[in-house]
Amino acid sequence: MAGPIAIVTGAQRGIGYGISRVLADRGYTVVLCDLDESALSEAERSIPGSHAMTVDVTDFEAVGAAVRTSEETFGPTAVLVNNAGINRDRMLHKMAESEWDTVVNVNLKGQFNCMRHVVPYMRGRKKGRIINISSASWQGNVGQANYAAAKAGVIGLTKTAARELARLNITVNAICPGFIDTPMTRQMPPEAFSAMMAKIPMERIGTPEDVGRVVAFLASDDAGYVTGEVVNVGGGMVL
Ligand code: NAP
Repeated sequence: MAGPIAIVTGAQRGIGYGISRVLADRGYTVVLCDLDESALSEAERSIPGSHAMTVDVTDFEAVGAAVRTSEETFGPTAVLVNNAGINRDRMLHKMAESEWDTVVNVNLKGQFNCMRHVVPYMRGRKKGRIINISSASWQGNVGQANYAAAKAGVIGLTKTAARELARLNITVNAICPGFIDTPMTRQMPPEAFSAMMAKIPMERIGTPEDVGRVVAFLASDDAGYVTGEVVNVGGGMVL
């Protein structure tokens, strides 16, 4: 039998894929949302019971259509995980306007778009869990003015939605991954990669499943009285 529905964005690889695997292992039917149709189909084949949905989180109308299709085809959304994200790192004085706009659009507006379309369904049912992926960088990181601003915005969005939705039994929490082993971090220059590793007290890079297990907790009944929180998952990187 199909389990409760969890919509995960940016799910075809990296942290989103790890979150999706953990949720599927725990009995969720995962709706995998991402940009690349063929990569998404491969992820769908490897995660039992999952469904692939090609959608760009920056496209307000397309997100609305995807959420409607998911609700009507697969069932009520129990969990929304806003994970899709990108980086375009550059020092502030060299950052192009397009680098600012693209990162804020995907990392912040993308989360608003998904919440804006899922929340009315959750409100109607007085039930739901939203988990937004921010970043340890939200507190500021050299070369990441666009990314840090968007990820700080995610915290404000999370806390506001948590306040608005608490009385409706809908929890909204944010996770700040530290340094996680994904294609996003593997594309960094070796010196930058080593500098990040040196900041981790646990002396190992995180795995997508390290993040996925915390998502699973926040989605579970055990976390029913937890809302508006920001949970660091970084092996002690932020203390
Ligand atoms: P990743 O490996 O680059 O995966 C991100 C996924 O999101 C990709 O599949 C990407 O698709 C997809 N995506 C990008 N733009 C999208 C859009 N407009 N609509 C739908 N999907 C889109 O990144 P990751 O390292 O797993 O990061 C996942 C999340 O964790 C991000 O929000 C990131 O900021 C956050 N995070 C990561 C780390 C880390 O150490 N890795 C640390 C802190 C926070 P394409 O490949 O087709 O572009």
